[in-house]
Amino acid sequence: ITVNARDSEHGQSVVEAVEGLPEVSVVNVSDRTFLMHIGGKIEVRSKLQIRTRDDLSMVYTPGVARVCRAIHDDPERAFNLTIKRNTVAVVSDGTAVLGLGDIGPRAAMPVMEGKAALFKQFANVDAFPICLDTKDTDEIVATVKALAPGFGGINLEDISAPRCFEIEERLKKDLDIPVFHDDQHGTAVVVLAALINSLKIVGKKVEDLRLVVNGVGASGVACAKIIMAAGATNVVGCDSKGIVHEGREDLNPAKRWFAENTNPEGRTGDLAEAVRGADLFLGLSAPNVLTVDDLKTMNEDPIIFAMANPDPEIRPEDAMGHARIIATGRSDYPNQINNVLCFPGIFRGALDVRAREIDEGMKLAAANAMAEVIPEEDLSEDYIIPSVFDERVAPAVAEAVSEKAKETGMARRIQDRAETGLSATT
Ligand code: NAP
Ligand code: MG
Repeated sequence: ITVNARDSEHGQSVVEAVEGLPEVSVVNVSDRTFLMHIGGKIEVRSKLQIRTRDDLSMVYTPGVARVCRAIHDDPERAFNLTIKRNTVAVVSDGTAVLGLGDIGPRAAMPVMEGKAALFKQFANVDAFPICLDTKDTDEIVATVKALAPGFGGINLEDISAPRCFEIEERLKKDLDIPVFHDDQHGTAVVVLAALINSLKIVGKKVEDLRLVVNGVGASGVACAKIIMAAGATNVVGCDSKGIVHEGREDLNPAKRWFAENTNPEGRTGDLAEAVRGADLFLGLSAPNVLTVDDLKTMNEDPIIFAMANPDPEIRPEDAMGHARIIATGRSDYPNQINNVLCFPGIFRGALDVRAREIDEGMKLAAANAMAEVIPEEDLSEDYIIPSVFDERVAPAVAEAVSEKAKETGMARRIQDRAETGLSATT
């Protein structure tokens, strides 16, 4: 027999089960996950059929020359006459890939290809994986700037903190297309959407929230910032050394900002100290760092977003009964906080109006739209965020992001959305 297994563990268990059987021998074990990756997961296709000399002379030289000159005369026409308006670069240096860490640019490719496949499926965005063989901040910035002409947006991906902050900041300043580090801001948008709906369930206001962010890295800082932009004032952050406060001497610039702009009561100490009296624990740190005893010291109806991957800060089965709402990054528990809910729609919305940037307002609009996909009467402790396969999410997010960009002047173009991407009817 040939075993067609889901993964190597599954394959092994099937082999063990059949090995002792008479007249059965295993000739081959294939792993379906690997099979899906053979030759990569995406390809480039032409939109045109080039059949005659005449076609050729228009698609390519000499006809193409007139198009080139038109763009040379008016660079904005690149949006209309090239792939720029629908194309996003997914750029990584392979230093913070999934929970795997610094595995390098070649090994990061399957993730970036997968991301490109998701961009296409959920929002008809043509995304291209670009893995850079350098970890040098200046070199990454220079390279992305140099390849920007063909793209309408840059999705930075899996670049480790704190370099990711500087790389994004410098690219945002220098480029006139959106630059969006998904591990920071995609996470932040989905977390805020989940929080908006959670607060409806527990009947609390974001202004009154006492919030602990465990993990002051790429995603923790961005999540704290967006929740503060939404109105929260009482935020306390913890890293591996405990509460982040102004008295600490070991803080990088991002943590220094954090110390200066959070922790209004000037708390010091460890995580157990931080969570006492808190309404929300937001974990973007490491597995199994929050205990049931910690939960017992929290405020009434505590909300736990335990998002360390693959193993959360506390196992949902342990937190059950001690927390009102529990969310994780995992698909095998309710309330999965997954970035795929955000990046396709937010880029779709930005590309549709040829946005210069994805700014705070657009992110807040995205989070609100995502939250509102679930009607209030359908919300429950186990349903605070739409499913990753909910087809309403990307168009709703795109629409909200485009509208916000038009309102604030971030949009270069006011247009009918049906023209380039997800029309209102898809
Ligand atoms: P990161 O930039 O490396 O930051 C990790 C932060 O966690 C650092 O501040 C680190 O502290 C802190 N930390 C580590 N161990 C800790 C502990 N025992 N107690 C308190 N803090 C601790 O990583 P990231 O990209 O933000 O990701 C963090 C985690 O969140 C990962 O597990 C990632 O998979 C997960 N995540 C999930 C989602 C999702 O599910 N949608 C999205 C984004 C991230 P030091 O600074 O002291 O080292
Ligand atoms: Mg990522």
